[in-house]
Order: sequence, then C-alpha cells, then structure tokens
Amino acid sequence: MQTKIFNTSKPDLLKASKLIETGGTLAFPTETVYGLGADATNNLAVAKIFQAKGRPSFNPLIIHCFSIEQIQAFAMWSSEAQTVAEKFWPGPLTMVLPLLPHSKIASLALAGLQTVAVRIPAHSIAQSILKLANTPIAAPSANPSGSVSATKTEHVISKLNGKIEGIVSGGSSEIGLEITIISFLPDPRILRFGAIDEADISEILSLDLKKKALDGEISAPGQLSSHYAPKGSIRLNSKVFKNKEVSLGFGKVICDLNLSRTENLIEAAANLFDCLHKLDEMGAEKIAVSPIPEEGIGIAINDRLKRAAAPK
Ligand code: AMP
Ligand code: MG
Repeated sequence: MQTKIFNTSKPDLLKASKLIETGGTLAFPTETVYGLGADATNNLAVAKIFQAKGRPSFNPLIIHCFSIEQIQAFAMWSSEAQTVAEKFWPGPLTMVLPLLPHSKIASLALAGLQTVAVRIPAHSIAQSILKLANTPIAAPSANPSGSVSATKTEHVISKLNGKIEGIVSGGSSEIGLEITIISFLPDPRILRFGAIDEADISEILSLDLKKKALDGEISAPGQLSSHYAPKGSIRLNSKVFKNKEVSLGFGKVICDLNLSRTENLIEAAANLFDCLHKLDEMGAEKIAVSPIPEEGIGIAINDRLKRAAAPK
C-alpha cells in the first residue's frame, strides 16, 4: 500500500478526510501525539488500525468527535459530563460513558463493550479532519504496538509507511503527558491520571476524585476494558462441529455464523464482536469456533477468543 502524505491546505485536508469517509486509515496530529484514525462507525476500517499497529490483542479505542451533539447521538450524556466538557473540552481529557442502544459505533472500536470513551481534541488539524469527514473517528496513537508514540510526521513515516493509507503532515504535536481518562458509569471516577489534573476536575464537580480513584476498584487504565465474552461455553480450534453446538466458522465451512468465508483475517476481525454478540442473542450455550491462523491480526482474534473461552 502506498501511504499518501497530505499537507494542511484546505484541498489536502479535504482529500485526507475523504480517506476516512471511504474506510481508510489516516494518521493526523492531535495536541498530545499523532493519532491513527479511521471511521469509528466502520468495523472494517477499525480493523485496519489494529492490523497496522500489529497489536497482539484488541483494546477499546478513544472515539474522537468535534461536538457534544455528535457524541450525544451514541453515548449517554449527563449534567456532570456537561460540566466537565464545558470546562475542559476541547482538550486532553477522555470521558467513558454508557453506550446508547443501537448506536452506530463499530463493535471492534469498543472491543465489544457497552461503554464508549470519547474526546474532543483541541488541535486545529484534528478538528478540521473531524468536521470534514463528519463521522466520529476512532484513533489510538499512531505507532506500532510496543513502540513509542509519534509526535512528528517523520516518526509516523518511519514506523508506519506502507501500512496506512495517509498521513497529515501537521508539525509537532506534543503535550508530553497522557490524556486524563474519567469514567461516568455513572459515578465520576478517574481511570487514568494525565494531562488534566484531577484536582481541577474534582473542584468543578465538588468531589474528591483522587480519593475515589485510589480507594475504588477501578483505578488502573484498561481495567474497565477487560473481556467482553459471550455467556455460552466456547470450544476453540474446532475442525468438526458437534450436535447442539452453535458454530462460528472461518473459511468455506458450513456453520451458523462465519467470521470470513474468504479467509480474510481483517474481515474476520471486523466481524468478531458482532458475531460474539449475535451468539448471545441466539442464546447459544455451546459454541464451537473454527481454527484461526495465528498470524497478523489473527493473533489478536485468537487472543480474544482464548479469553472468551476461559472458564467463567
Ligand atoms: P489509550 O491506551 O491511550 O489508547 O487509551 C485507551 C484507554 O481508554 C483504554 O485502555 C481504556 O482505559 C479506556 N477506554 C477506551 N475505550 C473504552 C471503552 N469503550 N470503555 C471503557 N474504557 C475505555
Ligand atoms: Mg499508545
């Protein structure tokens, strides 16, 4: 794949946003680090983010938006969220909110969860892309898994050239601190300390968030993101499906649900969480899953399936 480099002129930003609209992956600067974005409502586009980053597991991604109204279309808003948003957005603060039923957000961007992490970035280029593409954008940091975050276009090019569709070259983007993450599920609680001081958030909410984060069960980043799994038991690497099993296939097999008939691992990743949710809707008690090749994004698929298959 050839990675296109865009400058920050209006015509180039328009072309870059078209890449997002058409399901491509685009790196762009935010005020913290470069993000690797894709249309957050498109599972296949989100799968390409994981493919490019080479992460051996799926984590839920932060959904970037340009307005509160855009967020209200898919997340449950509250007066406390409004208070925090008015004070700190746009900026390096992410809020975790309950997902609204029938939201358009891709299940892969949420790692199958019913919660969603959102933020309105302050960087003008990120804002332009979000407005032009007119869709929420899922974006983790634009670096391969395990390598340091990129704060310059050159960093992104050296690590991801040929693996993503485009890069907006927008100079340095550096706050040097991680984004603060606050959860409203429904009580306000800090999930990760970062660029925005929890004391400032505590003050406007009249709460002691530091104490809550340290006392509470949910204090480490990612803890909330653990393990969406269907209710039924799961048998992996099933070449033959048994009677009474609901089958989740891969490739040209006769089965109830298929991750990818053409053995395309990116398509399988894109379908994974929708299929797992479907198994629950079907009331599946015994689930059998075809073998998935342990290569590329297949490693992340197998990681999730193994966690789902672990005794509950
Ligand atoms: P990062 O690791 O900087 O990409 O930030 C992602 C973090 O945001 C995850 O590790 C979670 O702590 C949190 N997060 C993202 N999406 C969700 C979600 N849907 N539900 C709960 N927490 C989330
Ligand atoms: Mg990162």
